[in-house]
Amino acid sequence: MRLISVAIDGPVGAGKSTIARAAAERMNFIYCDTGALYRAVGLFCHRNGVDMHDPSEIAMSLGNIKLEIRLINGVQRIFMNSEDVSEEIRLPKISMAASAVSPVPEVRAALLGLQRDIAETHSVIMDGRDIGTVVLPNADVKIFLTAKPEIRAKRRYDELVAKGSDVTFEEVLDDLNKRDYNDSHRGTAPLKQAADAVRADTSELDFEQSVELVCNIIKERM
Ligand code: C5P
Repeated sequence: MRLISVAIDGPVGAGKSTIARAAAERMNFIYCDTGALYRAVGLFCHRNGVDMHDPSEIAMSLGNIKLEIRLINGVQRIFMNSEDVSEEIRLPKISMAASAVSPVPEVRAALLGLQRDIAETHSVIMDGRDIGTVVLPNADVKIFLTAKPEIRAKRRYDELVAKGSDVTFEEVLDDLNKRDYNDSHRGTAPLKQAADAVRADTSELDFEQSVELVCNIIKERM
């Protein structure tokens, strides 16, 4: 059977991961969250006191990081030096660490092979910032998923509060704006819509409608 690859890119909090995961389940594809890889590198640097303002120090630490994506019952888990860090990488301080390491060209180059290997061996919905532009430029379907910043921040805030975090809405909005700015202004693989991507704005849609929209785009394009 021919393998299908779907690239979903977009800014922070557009709902990429939850929408992509649900769509993958419905379409019987695997789901790959590439942000987890950048987060794992960020976690390593954070734990080891790497200077986040020093790209060469970040690049040097790559030699000590072995990352693996394992699929356990179809669900992605991320292992760093054999430790399952899938939960710890979700902490807000690690979001900022991921954003700090992600512009470093050596980091992006080191993670490229891992991401491409998945698409070479599975039908996949892969989400990130540069999937349609750099990682899988020949993806069968490309979607740029977005929503208004305040709406994205509110969704992210509700998620964090539900997990027991005591962040404020303003902190979440500020973090989101900073990360979007960093992602869209970096020299290597900046966040941008691929020329052949379908733009999907979920500002006015609930979760179910968003999943349906994504599944419909995939079916039409396939
Ligand atoms: O998607 P998520 O918020 O988990 O990603 C964490 C960080 O990793 C982003 O803020 C971004 O800087 C970086 N990232 C990236 N390219 C990707 C996926 C994530 O630069 N394909």
